[in-house]
Amino acid sequence: MATAIDLSKSNSGELLRTQLATATRIMNMENVLEYSGHISVRVPGKNALYIQQRTESRAEVSPESVLMVDFDCNVIEGKGKPPSETVIHCEILKSRPEVNAVIHNHMELAIAFTMMKGVTMLPMRSRAARWASGIPLHNDPSHIKRLEQGQALAKTLGQHNAALMRTHGMVLVAESLPALTADTIHFEENARAMMEVLQAGKEPIPLSEEDMVQINRNEDRDHHVRKLWNYYVNKAKKGGNMPTAWDIEY
Ligand SMILES: [Zn+2]
Repeated sequence: MATAIDLSKSNSGELLRTQLATATRIMNMENVLEYSGHISVRVPGKNALYIQQRTESRAEVSPESVLMVDFDCNVIEGKGKPPSETVIHCEILKSRPEVNAVIHNHMELAIAFTMMKGVTMLPMRSRAARWASGIPLHNDPSHIKRLEQGQALAKTLGQHNAALMRTHGMVLVAESLPALTADTIHFEENARAMMEVLQAGKEPIPLSEEDMVQINRNEDRDHHVRKLWNYYVNKAKKGGNMPTAWDIEY
C-alpha cells in the first residue's frame, strides 16, 4: 500500500505535477473533461503554473510530461507546447491570488445551459452551495487565445468560483487540485439534476440563499475533498486509469 502524503502540507513540484496528472486522468475517467480541456495549478512562489501539453491525451498525462509556464504563457520548464487556451489559466491565477487550481473544460451538460432561452443554471444539489455567489455567463463563444480575451474571462469570473462560457464550456477555480476535482464532479451532478427536472417537464426548485448559508455553515470541506479524492484515486487505480505506483492518496 502506498505511503500516505499529507497533501495539505506539501506543495513540492513533484507532488503538484503528480496531482495534476491524477486530476486530469480522474476527470477524463468521469467524462467531465474529454479530448480537450485542461487543468492548471499555481507554482508556489513563482508567477507560473503547471499545465499539461497541448496535444497529449487527457487519459495519459504524466508528472514527467507536465510543463511549467509563466504568466505570459511561455514554457519555462519541460518540452512541448501548452494548450492554445493557456491564457485562461494565466489571467485567472493573476487576478485571484487565493486560487491555486483552475479547470477549463467543455462539459456538455454545462454548455447546454448556455444555449437555452430563458433558462439559467441554478443551485439544485447541496454541493452547489459552493457557487452560492452565482455562476456568471461569459458571452464570447470563441476560443480564448488572446490576452484581452483571457482578461475579459477573468473579469466575468470576478470573485465567483465558476463561470459558464456561451456555447463553449466553463471554468472552475479552487484552493487545490483535489478540491477542484471534487468541485468539477459536483458541478456535473448539479447540472444533471437540473436537466432531469427540466426533461421531466417540471419547474426546478433550487436551493434558496438561506439553504446555502446553512449548508455552508455545516460544511467540512477539507474532509469532503479528502474523501472524494481518495475514492477517485482508488477507482482510477483499480480501473487501470492511472499507475498504482503513483503515491498520491491523502
Ligand atoms: Zn475551450
